[in-house]
Amino acid sequence: MTRAEASSPLLPCRSSEKEFVLKQKQEKESTQGKEKAKRVYTEMPLFLGNAKDISKNSIKTDGKKAEEARAKETKAALASVHRSSEHRNNSNRMHKDKDGKRGASEETLGQKPRKGRRRKGKPPVKIIFLGGIGEIGKNMTAIEYGNDIIIIDAGLTFPDEELPGIDLVIPDISYLVANKNKVRGLLITHGHEDHVGAIAYLLKEVNVPVYATKLTLALADNKLREHRINRAQLVCINPGDKIKLGCFGVEFINVNHSIAGAVALSIDTPNGRIYHSGDFKIDLTPVAGEQIDLSRIAEIGREGVKLLLCESTNVERLGYTMSETVVGTTLDHLFSENMNRRIIVATFASNVHRVQQIIDIAVKYRRKVALSGRSMLNVVDAAIKIGELTIPEGVLIDVEKIKNYFDREIVIISTGTQGEPMSALTRMASGDFNKVTIGSNDTIIISASPIPGNEKMIYKVINNLYRKGANVVYESLEKIHVSGHACQEELKILHSLLKPQFFIPVHGEYRHLKRHARLAMDLGMSENNILIADIGNCVELTPDAIQFGESVSSGSRLVDGSSLEDRENSVVMKDRKHLSEDGIFVITACVSERTGDLLSEPSVVNRGFVMPNNADYVSDIRRIVENCVEQTDVRADVDSSELTAVIKKQVKNFIYKKTKQNPVIMANIVRV
Ligand SMILES: [Zn+2]
Ligand SMILES: [Zn+2]
Repeated sequence: MTRAEASSPLLPCRSSEKEFVLKQKQEKESTQGKEKAKRVYTEMPLFLGNAKDISKNSIKTDGKKAEEARAKETKAALASVHRSSEHRNNSNRMHKDKDGKRGASEETLGQKPRKGRRRKGKPPVKIIFLGGIGEIGKNMTAIEYGNDIIIIDAGLTFPDEELPGIDLVIPDISYLVANKNKVRGLLITHGHEDHVGAIAYLLKEVNVPVYATKLTLALADNKLREHRINRAQLVCINPGDKIKLGCFGVEFINVNHSIAGAVALSIDTPNGRIYHSGDFKIDLTPVAGEQIDLSRIAEIGREGVKLLLCESTNVERLGYTMSETVVGTTLDHLFSENMNRRIIVATFASNVHRVQQIIDIAVKYRRKVALSGRSMLNVVDAAIKIGELTIPEGVLIDVEKIKNYFDREIVIISTGTQGEPMSALTRMASGDFNKVTIGSNDTIIISASPIPGNEKMIYKVINNLYRKGANVVYESLEKIHVSGHACQEELKILHSLLKPQFFIPVHGEYRHLKRHARLAMDLGMSENNILIADIGNCVELTPDAIQFGESVSSGSRLVDGSSLEDRENSVVMKDRKHLSEDGIFVITACVSERTGDLLSEPSVVNRGFVMPNNADYVSDIRRIVENCVEQTDVRADVDSSELTAVIKKQVKNFIYKKTKQNPVIMANIVRV
């Protein structure tokens, strides 16, 4: 492998080769990092066609003063670019050079300014929301300028009760597919499903380099392997790194969250800086890793932030989120109180630092650790490989071997904190998990809080565990879980440090977004500088304004096994809803091809249909079918379509008349 290859951010890197490449890349960057970062930022104005002087000066000077001077110059350059007609020419030329056709930004640069545009000349930076706004889940935002698009996150959402049988919900990415030659990269803020879950579906259609930290990439890689995607270009970044993607300069900032390796993004665009908070909290005593980089955030604020996109999950909660360390203290005290009992801790597999705390305390109390649940095994495996999780030798045992130990010697770490029907804990509670049988000497600690909507399922699990004689500890009883999201005071700190000119709250339902807008106004921001966006919205950012532009095609796509459908037009969903509400009748009639007569009594089967007053309509329906066969010229109706249609219609009318119900009717004609 050549040196050039090793440092290329576009290099496909997988498994051990990937690690090697990453290491080489990091080593190289640690010496060249500053130089490279400088280059990144000095190259930016080049795109704008006016950067010769700036880049020369930047290379000559150094240090903080120079940094400031450079920032000033860049600002000045941007302003002059903005005024310059030369920029228009250059910019047009550049778009034509690249694609051989007019770029999107050129349209806005043309003589006729679009309706409602406040400024002539400079095109806006577009912030396009494809998911994760007005909802908590399937995060995906695109930032576009001219011929460049970068994507932030590619998340999924789990289906609600409206979507029976659906596995996953992902954002509609048709806008990105239509513009795929503009997409320069995918930036993933962290490895939670609502940020990384749709990566395989995105890369299948828009294969671009993926930039994320080590753990995020390891989790993403697992997903790509499941989908047999081998051509992905995974580029490992560290907090503090700066990269250039098209006209955008991106800096990754370390933040705290309920998963290791979470970052925020500071994105320099031709119209000013956008700060994307990612999911974050301010944890001054994190269990592992660094504190959120408040000093860099303050610096970024001083340098100037045009637009803040900030998560809103916990905006309804007063005060501060507790530190992850609190959980360790509670766990320690629970372990010491339950010395002679077997302990089972359920937690999110992705919360590697939580898993680390449980393991550390298990080691302290001389217990062996068994893992239970597929995602727990997968994540722990990935985290050990990249050194994010440390387990002393001999501590981990197979869950099958727990019977060889006394209860007091065992801790089981399990999935299933949300009462998911197939999870290890749910199956333990209902007694159909043969590897672990719950009894009166078990203490079960549920180290998580219910995701809204899951409460019923979780309390059912807790009730079942109590019924089996176990003792259960959960969030409302002990400080056994802390959130990964910033509460009000932490959000205020971020706003105050960044002092953005404009603000769009993200990562929240509508009520969260509204509350977050109110919080920003309480801090002195004008209502005119805040936008509440929705999925499909395109917000246009110019150097002195934000406004809504033209919306893009957007929505949800449903994943069921290996098939994909749009939520809005899903026939399958309509059928499933219909079936779940009204049930189904399946009618089978066997007719003679030669005579057109019925050869046997029609079969009528119904499922999920409530017969009023125990009435039996089966014989009536049989008679209807017999009449239909008699009245149809079966020999002429070669594909039985006429007969099928008439049976369906008449049976449907009959059932509706009798019951006011509207079940699905299926008619099969067998021709012999
Ligand atoms: Zn998250
Ligand atoms: Zn999230």
